[in-house]
Amino acid sequence: MVPKTKRGKVKCSDCGRILLMKDQGLKWDKCQVCEAIICVNCMWYNRIRKEGFHSYYYDVVRVCRNHVI
Ligand SMILES: [Zn+2]
Ligand SMILES: [Zn+2]
Repeated sequence: MVPKTKRGKVKCSDCGRILLMKDQGLKWDKCQVCEAIICVNCMWYNRIRKEGFHSYYYDVVRVCRNHVI
């Protein structure tokens, strides 16, 4: 068995769409919580509050539908 990542193709864990490894960040990305592969159509954005030294700021993370707030 050849690992999926070696064949240059990955599959969206949600809709099953076949995606190319080289398109990461463009057509798909990894869920920042569980690292599942998600295409742009199945991608969600969570805004999370992060504490800085003197104030707080908001950061946006890409997640799959399992972690949508
Ligand atoms: Zn998808
Ligand atoms: Zn996830």
